[in-house]
Amino acid sequence: MTLKVHNTATRSLQAFEPLEAGIVRVYGCGPTIYNHAHIGNFRTFLFFDLVHRYLDWSGYEVRFVMNLTDVDDKVIESAVESGITITEKTTPFGEAFLADSSTLGIRPAESYPRATDYIGAMVDFVQRLVDGGHAYPADDGAVYFSIASFAEYGRLKGIDTSTLKVGARVSHDQYDKEDARDFALWKAATAEDEQVEAAWDSPWGRGRPGWHLECSVMSIAELGETLDMHLGGEDLVFPHHENEIAQSEAATGRPFVRHWMHGRHLFVEGKKMAKSLGNFITLRELLDEGHDPAAIRHLLISSHYRGDLNFTRQGLEASGSALQRLLDFESRLKGLAVDAGADPSGLATIASEAVESFRGAMDNDFNSADALAVVFGFVSSVNAALDAHPAVIAADRDAALAALHSMDEVLGLLEVASASRVVDDDLAAYVEQKIQERSEARANRDFATSDAIRDELTGKGIVLEDGPDGTRWKVG
Ligand SMILES: [Zn+2]
Repeated sequence: MTLKVHNTATRSLQAFEPLEAGIVRVYGCGPTIYNHAHIGNFRTFLFFDLVHRYLDWSGYEVRFVMNLTDVDDKVIESAVESGITITEKTTPFGEAFLADSSTLGIRPAESYPRATDYIGAMVDFVQRLVDGGHAYPADDGAVYFSIASFAEYGRLKGIDTSTLKVGARVSHDQYDKEDARDFALWKAATAEDEQVEAAWDSPWGRGRPGWHLECSVMSIAELGETLDMHLGGEDLVFPHHENEIAQSEAATGRPFVRHWMHGRHLFVEGKKMAKSLGNFITLRELLDEGHDPAAIRHLLISSHYRGDLNFTRQGLEASGSALQRLLDFESRLKGLAVDAGADPSGLATIASEAVESFRGAMDNDFNSADALAVVFGFVSSVNAALDAHPAVIAADRDAALAALHSMDEVLGLLEVASASRVVDDDLAAYVEQKIQERSEARANRDFATSDAIRDELTGKGIVLEDGPDGTRWKVG
């Protein structure tokens, strides 16, 4: 099997091949850090994470870079409203974003370039486009990209540019494809830009970069002129990525991206998420409500990244149950008493077949829905085998556990569940002490005391499980 990915540019699945054997250069368009990321954003970033983890798992050296946009129209508007500088606005939200990502088990990128650290490189890039005849300074103090100078313009989105009015301009970062026209690479500073410290010197006077320019410059600076994969949410296809291609290829004369991949948006209770609809949910709100980050992760990867996914509270409950099933399965395997005299029970075969099916699902354009189905099918098969033949040899048990953990290196569910269930050492020592007292009480047939200890621990959220090898506990 080889990895196949859906390329937005060709609208088809194609065999993945990096430019340089063994190394994958991936750039993902990250968040604009002027507020807390919502769960729709995290569906996209978990799609990035699955790509990152699966490429790692497949043995590639992955160079994954994701920007944090800390200057653009929205950041400036928000800083003006708050009466602070853009740095004061974005610093705490950048930190919060990385903390939230870590809570969800998103593997860290190699770097998180911030646009304000690349202003000099952006000015140089614009100059290069002006020198090459692809951009021009206008009388409003801005520098525009001339889309008529780039014959391929419109190819990613599939728009016919022959009807566009040559020389018509748009200065906002966001606009519709019907309004495709020369876009601002560099914008003249306004009084508000100066007020929030979003203005820099340039050959065209004081100004600031346009949002589209930022990603071209940072991705090329960090990863080189041709990227293997460029990831983003589906709303970024136009104009953001269309403009990135135009700027980058016009400047370098080389193909910018080999595989464009876009994740579908999340729906919440059947509707598109929007502040005005009141269904705008941040990760922090869900965590404050007591939801398990591993269950949230499960729900957000439960659908293929290009498929529909509707977030509901009910769905989150179901994800919690699925996760518990996985945790119980892991405990069962870990707790299996091995019997050197048992016959091989076929678990090793079930395990290796599951890993191969899992690989097949992920090789098919990172289909996490199918990959999860493989994992839960594996859980059912192994549970059924153990119900029929509880005695297993160590090799069978170890193969089953290794397969489970290998698949979880990509899915990250047990990983996040265990990270969020870490208890501090003091609590652990206290629980161990109480279990010891309870065992002594039971040995003395003092069941009133042993029950009271169990009840006390239950009240603290500690679940006891009595087994042949003694009592195990977990945070329930
Ligand atoms: Zn971008």
